[in-house]
Amino acid sequence: MARIKVIGGGLAGCECAFGLAERGHTVDLFEMRPQRTTAAHHSSDLGELVCSNSFRSSSPTNAVGLLKAEMAILDSLVIRCAESARVPAGDAFAVDRQRFATAVTAAVGSHSNIRVNRTEVDSLDRGPYDFLVVATGPLTSEPLFAAINAFLGNDGLYFYDAIAPIIAADSLDMEKLYWKSRYDKGSSSDYLNAAMNQEQYEAFVDALLGAELYPLHDFEKAVHFEGCLPIEEIASRGVDTLRFGPMKPVGLENPLTGRRPHAVVQLRKEDLSDEFFNLVGFQTKMKVPEQKRLLQMIPGLESCTFARFGSMHRNTFINGPRHLTPTFQSRRDPRIFFAGQITGVEGYVESAATGLLAARYIDALSSGTEPVHVPYYTAIGALGRHVAESSPDRYQPSNVTWAVIEDAVGKARKNEKREKQVAMALAAVREFA
Ligand SMILES: Cc1cc2nc3c(=O)[nH]c(=O)nc-3n(C[C@H](O)[C@H](O)[C@H](O)COP(=O)(O)OP(=O)(O)OC[C@H]3O[C@@H](n4cnc5c(N)ncnc54)[C@H](O)[C@@H]3O)c2cc1C
Repeated sequence: MARIKVIGGGLAGCECAFGLAERGHTVDLFEMRPQRTTAAHHSSDLGELVCSNSFRSSSPTNAVGLLKAEMAILDSLVIRCAESARVPAGDAFAVDRQRFATAVTAAVGSHSNIRVNRTEVDSLDRGPYDFLVVATGPLTSEPLFAAINAFLGNDGLYFYDAIAPIIAADSLDMEKLYWKSRYDKGSSSDYLNAAMNQEQYEAFVDALLGAELYPLHDFEKAVHFEGCLPIEEIASRGVDTLRFGPMKPVGLENPLTGRRPHAVVQLRKEDLSDEFFNLVGFQTKMKVPEQKRLLQMIPGLESCTFARFGSMHRNTFINGPRHLTPTFQSRRDPRIFFAGQITGVEGYVESAATGLLAARYIDALSSGTEPVHVPYYTAIGALGRHVAESSPDRYQPSNVTWAVIEDAVGKARKNEKREKQVAMALAAVREFA
């Protein structure tokens, strides 16, 4: 049996520690609260939910609903505690946050194979342990941030994310859009373009300036990089600033007319699927209903549906494709694992899911077997795929969505397709379990 050091008593760390302990391993779990806290946590509880009390949809044909069903098959502690604290919320899976955190704290704290140490960790030294799991989340403390950064060769640890919305391809009006990459460099089928005339562009800029934004938390203030500003911030710098930034029309003449539009919104295929497009450079702090209203002003996007909305937060995360394997091991030292939001997944459920998997992979390694990742066409396996196989140049954190789950079904009517995908995923997870 192995000895494992787990750093971070949040969703991922608790799920991982419990999964290991249940398999007979000995775990030392290090949590810095209450000795030192973060800007978002309020208690000393393990598994504290820092903001909403929702685990999102419970419908199995929704990607996060499928993920929860898969985690239940894999005996997830977080799902078990969430079920015990569940409160009515329609289609959503919401919990009484205090009961939830109390249940997690009790299960982890009373496990005979887990010792909880209330100490801040500031290095990646494995010491006498066989494995180390770093699960310190989006608000990893500074000394450990510095240690992780050094471990990664000061290349690929970030403290802020800038997420552009993702749109479903089948909701686009293709008659109004055209394929072209700037100056025809690269493949012509990488980018779709939405052209705007002056009137449309100026109305769009006006609407952006009046849009309602999420307030910045104190700890998020002013961390905008010039190369990665929210679109509303760019718009506030002058009516033409967006036309010289993400909405630049040069090199994007419409092949049908041969003319250069006044401004262009580019849509790029998501790496992992042809079903979804990313709005290039459209990271934003706009509230979700505002994103919907404004982006539907773009010609061709009038009826668009969103696989993910844009956002920007303070968020510590690693460039997963550069540094991690699909089994959440660091490429530099396969005995050092990362789990939770620090890997570039996003959300309570996704973070817990990666902790659950890390425990299983460590269990395999400790019995001398090379861990094999869960198939990518499952929701839980897709997290490893996102973390390890996305483009390293454009890596940004993501929730689980159908855009990251591998399509093992191919062309079919959407509802039928989802049902088939769900059946295949659940069967694969049962086999893995
Ligand atoms: C302001 C804010 C709002 C959010 N709102 C939502 C939401 O509404 N819904 C949602 O799904 N997700 C939300 N998230 C994301 C959510 O917090 C994460 O997805 C989830 O908590 C990540 O789980 P984790 O285990 O990776 O990290 P966490 O749950 O944050 O756990 C990490 C733990 O590590 C500890 N730690 C940090 N550094 C050290 C150290 N050096 N030594 C020892 N311990 C350390 C921390 O105290 C913490 O307990 C939000 C995040 C933030 C910051």
